[in-house]
Amino acid sequence: MSDTIQQVTILGATGSIGLSTLDVIRRHPDRYQVFALTGHSRVDELAGLCREFLPRFVVVSSDVHEARLKELVAGLNVEVLSGASALNVVAAHEDVDLVMAAIVGAAGLLPNLAAAKAGKKVLLANKESLVMSGELFMREIAQSGASLLPIDSEHNAIFQCLPNGQFKQDSGVEKILLTASGGPFRSFSYEQLKTVTPAQAVAHPNWSMGQKISVDSASLMNKGLEFIEACWLFNCSADQVEVVVHPESVIHSMVSYVDGSVIAQMGNPDMRTPIAYGMAWPERLESGVKPLDLFQVAQLNFERPDTERFPCLALAKQSFETGGCAPAILNAANEIAVEAFLSERISFLNIADVVEGTLNGVSNQTSDSLEQVLESDSKAREFASSLVQRFGVS
Ligand code: NAD
Ligand code: MG
Repeated sequence: MSDTIQQVTILGATGSIGLSTLDVIRRHPDRYQVFALTGHSRVDELAGLCREFLPRFVVVSSDVHEARLKELVAGLNVEVLSGASALNVVAAHEDVDLVMAAIVGAAGLLPNLAAAKAGKKVLLANKESLVMSGELFMREIAQSGASLLPIDSEHNAIFQCLPNGQFKQDSGVEKILLTASGGPFRSFSYEQLKTVTPAQAVAHPNWSMGQKISVDSASLMNKGLEFIEACWLFNCSADQVEVVVHPESVIHSMVSYVDGSVIAQMGNPDMRTPIAYGMAWPERLESGVKPLDLFQVAQLNFERPDTERFPCLALAKQSFETGGCAPAILNAANEIAVEAFLSERISFLNIADVVEGTLNGVSNQTSDSLEQVLESDSKAREFASSLVQRFGVS
């Protein structure tokens, strides 16, 4: 065990992953101290977290929230900051050891890159940033010597099942088997999918998560983003990753070897397991997750994904194979479409229509600079918004 207390920045502390991370930290005050917390607008919740964890910095998105938070934490020794550049400051600060990247969506890209450049131990939950800028992000990690630990449960499982966390054919690795629960609409017909509501989409059968990733899980876009994430994280090609629907979410992913062995990582669906693994790696920590009761699980089932009813998975795979900024375009279009679906401006099936239309309508370019990635992201958002208007129900 390390003898110094690790300083942790949590980007997206008020979210589902952020709060699970704080729960792991709460169990191990001898190992971790909160250096900085960031949130978007939930100022009262952030103030409560400041009282409990006494961070050095807390960051919110706007100066209005900053002013309100300053009043709420007056008397505590906490510095309140606001704006996107403040996120970079707390992600790259010289006193920080670990950065939990748990902002949702493209908003996480710049602070995650700042943490990578500064050589931090980056715990990556925010898959969207890697989907947008895989080439760039992996280059920054390699150049700075930062460690990148996957927190997404599937990728954390794969990391645990690979020899030394690496996909190397000379060590007999054949394929990654990326599991998917199938989401709340797994057994819905195409007809039924036409009328599903946001409330139904966010009610995931196995996991409790933020709204955006819950909708992505329902459309299988989440699995598409994770497919791209796996290819970048483990440096493998699209044909070395296979998606397997496993409705129980007990196996979190598997690795298949040339001798016929398949190694799986199992556990209850609780994000504190991958979070604790990433934080303590290469050690293990008690996380608060109950042991898996196999007698209660009783059965494990597997199916092939259906890309007719769930075209987002196929669109994501295609965008990765196309390369360049196509995944950034896909991601941006999806963020716009999910927001429009959640506010009931388009139907569930329109999400794939908006993504496909944007991929066809926005020209692709190479993705080796941040400027190119950001330009594609903003063009795609603009194009996708116009499609939302066109498909819109009101
Ligand atoms: P969430 O919606 O619960 O939380 C998102 C966090 O990001 C909040 O703290 C919010 O304040 C912050 N945020 C949102 N917009 C912001 C902006 N513009 N600027 C700054 N901060 C902003 O989301 P979540 O479910 O915790 O997911 C977070 C990330 O982790 C996502 O990328 C998701 O795909 C990934 N992830 C989540 C889970 C899970 O179980 N929840 C599992 C795997 C991966
Ligand atoms: Mg996942």
